[in-house]
Amino acid sequence: MRLKSLDTVAAAPLSEDTLAHLKDLLLRKRTELLATSTGARAIPASADVNSRQGDMADQASGTNEVEIQLKLKQTDAKILQAIEEALYRLEKGVYGLCRDCGDPIASARLEAIPWTRVCISCKQKQNA
Ligand SMILES: [Zn+2]
Repeated sequence: MRLKSLDTVAAAPLSEDTLAHLKDLLLRKRTELLATSTGARAIPASADVNSRQGDMADQASGTNEVEIQLKLKQTDAKILQAIEEALYRLEKGVYGLCRDCGDPIASARLEAIPWTRVCISCKQKQNA
C-alpha cells in the first residue's frame, strides 16, 4: 500500500509507472473474469476477489443459487465491459479522467477500481 496525499495525486497527471501498473491490473482482472466465464474455476484469483465470491457463494446455498449466479455473471460482464473501455482510454491517453466532469480521478481510487469511469464526487452524486 502506497500512502500519498490525495491533493498532490489529483493535481498531477498519472506517471508512466502508474499507468503501466494500472494497465497490468486491468489485464489481470480481465483474464480472471474471462477464465471465470468460460468455466475454468481452478485459477487462483486475487485475495479480494476470492473472499468476495466466497461470501456470495456461502449465501448462495439456498434456492436463490441460480439467481445469484446469474447476478454474478451480469456483474462480471459489466466489469469486463468497463475494463475494455478503460484499456481503450489508456490507448487514447485519456485514462484517469472522469467521464462526467473531466477532472482527473484520484490515483488511489484508480488503484482500488482501475476500470472506474467517474471520480469519487460524481460517483457520490450518482448514489445520492
Ligand atoms: Zn467527476
